[in-house]
Amino acid sequence: MEHFKVLHKDTETAARAAVVKTNRGLVHTPVFMPVATQGTVKAVSQRDIQEIGAECLLSNTYHLYLRPGLPTLEKCGGLNGFMNHPGPVLTDSGGFQVYSLSRLRKITDNGVHFASHIDGSPHFFTPEKVIDYQASIGSSIWTCLDVCVKNPASREDAVDALKKTQRWAERAKAHFTEKTRHMDPLKRPLLFGIIQGSMYPDLRAEAARHMAELDMDGFAVGGLSVGESKAQMMESLAAVMENLPKNKPVYFMGLGTPDDIWNSVELGVDMFDCVLPTRNARNGQALTSGGKLYVKNAQFKNDDSPLDPECDCICCRNYSRAYLSHLYKAKELLVSQLISIHNLRFLINQTKIMRLAVAGGTFKQAKKAFMDAYQKEV
Ligand SMILES: [Zn+2]
Repeated sequence: MEHFKVLHKDTETAARAAVVKTNRGLVHTPVFMPVATQGTVKAVSQRDIQEIGAECLLSNTYHLYLRPGLPTLEKCGGLNGFMNHPGPVLTDSGGFQVYSLSRLRKITDNGVHFASHIDGSPHFFTPEKVIDYQASIGSSIWTCLDVCVKNPASREDAVDALKKTQRWAERAKAHFTEKTRHMDPLKRPLLFGIIQGSMYPDLRAEAARHMAELDMDGFAVGGLSVGESKAQMMESLAAVMENLPKNKPVYFMGLGTPDDIWNSVELGVDMFDCVLPTRNARNGQALTSGGKLYVKNAQFKNDDSPLDPECDCICCRNYSRAYLSHLYKAKELLVSQLISIHNLRFLINQTKIMRLAVAGGTFKQAKKAFMDAYQKEV
């Protein structure tokens, strides 16, 4: 059973259009996955998620485990039943959240002890437990528990974290295989290994080769887009991509600016998620085909044109920049909802443009057209 099929390959770059087959439907790549950390895409209803064409959502084991807690999800039909979302969800293992949010973190060879960021209660995650937790959540794409390091990290710290991540991935894969061996191949979830290695290209390359040997269903690139320079980020990404097989999906964790997505797709990355489109929306910042736009700027006070004249979302079809500017200044909640919907639709439309360009053999021209227009001030 093949869970990934490349439909078209660009002839000039490593960009590709493909499909990931999950137990809750097809995900056409390149894909942008809206983030639903707490079981909700912030300020966006389920009806709107359908309308913007999101084929996969991203959620988080750490957050769901702490709140509402796994017994609640099990009682309510898993995360899909709980949030009334029929399509596939990819869950992050929680490695990054344990690292970035929790207190009193202590990593041993066996797992990670931490205190909840909500109430300080003690918890212990192991690679095996995190597989079991994702089974309770019922997501379609699971990830292995990983160890994150601060950036910049010393080579010694990066090596240590990578070694643990690798051993934990082996344990997670073994547990996953045992747990899913009796399942129909079409109905089983997929398991992605997380590739670490900080900003050391040779460690990144080694991490990619190791994860490829473990025969994961796909690969998640973690620990990038964490404050490093763009050049460093792309160098590390290139080292990963050169060492991964071409017949599995690759997911760049937490990358969400449209220019970065274009550049990563060019190297062969398939899947993306990021909180920025919705977080920035709540701060009045819109992504448009002409560049970033801040609705509070004085020039939009009497501007009766849509946020992005090229966009087909419910916000752009029905409301003006002047109205959004007014809502933002009056601190009305609707503005967060409308710009969030627009920003997500904008990125989903970008990935659609990429897929069509790969199929039509025009990826480079399409990328140049996007970049030229996006650099302009609105
Ligand atoms: Zn729009």
